[in-house]
Amino acid sequence: MIRPRDEVALMEGYHSPQVSVDVRLNTNESPTAPPAAWQAAFEKAVQIVDWNRYPDRAATDLRAAIARLHDVDPAQVFVANGSNEVLQTLLLTYGGAGRTAAMWEPTYALHGHISRLTGTRVVQGERASDLSTDLDEVRRVFAESSPSVAFLCSPNNPTGMVDDEATVRTVLDLAVAAGALLVVDEAYAQFAPWSALGLVADGVPLVVTRTFSKTWSMAAARLGYLIGPAEIVAELEKVVLPYHLDTAKQIAGTLALDYVDEMDERVAHLVEERGRLVARLADLPLQVWPSAANFVLFRPSPDAAVPAGDDLWQALLDRSILVRNFSAMPRLEGCLRVTIGTPEENDTFLDALTEILT
Ligand code: PMP
Repeated sequence: MIRPRDEVALMEGYHSPQVSVDVRLNTNESPTAPPAAWQAAFEKAVQIVDWNRYPDRAATDLRAAIARLHDVDPAQVFVANGSNEVLQTLLLTYGGAGRTAAMWEPTYALHGHISRLTGTRVVQGERASDLSTDLDEVRRVFAESSPSVAFLCSPNNPTGMVDDEATVRTVLDLAVAAGALLVVDEAYAQFAPWSALGLVADGVPLVVTRTFSKTWSMAAARLGYLIGPAEIVAELEKVVLPYHLDTAKQIAGTLALDYVDEMDERVAHLVEERGRLVARLADLPLQVWPSAANFVLFRPSPDAAVPAGDDLWQALLDRSILVRNFSAMPRLEGCLRVTIGTPEENDTFLDALTEILT
């Protein structure tokens, strides 16, 4: 039987179990639907779609709406099927055979995964002992490996920790000096105190990626984008498949941006719930990482004689609560990550966790 390419044959797929449970807190989705007014506007708009025609290849309306949101030029906006497709297009364009992508672990697994899939060599540096970005380690990786693409993830998945502006600026300076591209993955930026978007400018090798999957309550739509220099967006447009963004999705995204206030309210509510959840976790025998996202990473303290990792994940699943198990990831032994849900879901999770751990 024919074998796939080596990169694929040696690879494990993406593992995040989709299990039917009462409380689903494993993939950092929004726990609530988009506004009913958005749904009504969308249903009305799709009624007059010319289904026999290909979509607008330039996604003109959607890019204009995103550009208005961030006060940039539409030529600085690249849109794709989820920010994962944005990352894939970046790697197909700036990675590939003979090129290297750098990232600092533990971080979002798809940065390494998509790099490998595109034939890009992967160099994984380490984070500091508190799992923040270690600039000496970043300098070492740049000096030793000359990456073409470097990834930061802020807030970082799965830790929830933010790289501050000085850190991003320092890594950007290293990227400029190395002739590399810096990708700042901001899938969770609206939950965080600052964004690297303000550093984007034509001529600067920085792109910032965003998604509609989290704060916009639209994971089902598969829509993401980046803001970056127009010259980079033009290269990405050459690489992506023609008509990759279907008409319904373009409409869904464009209309979503009419409801920014509702999105801000949802974010504020989730940030409040995050505070409440973290306060209750502090009463349990746990190590908890400081999160600026819509999820929290935690693990039982090593000296507490309680279930951790796989056992704790299973004990929660037995109570029909699904969280994400990170205990097999290097440096995250025993760790689980919980998404902030509705107040009721969070209470169910907290009560179950309390019961298991005390
Ligand atoms: N980046 C990060 C850091 C993420 O956590 C995720 C989703 N888990 C993505 C990108 C991909 O999001 P999507 O493809 O749904 O836009």
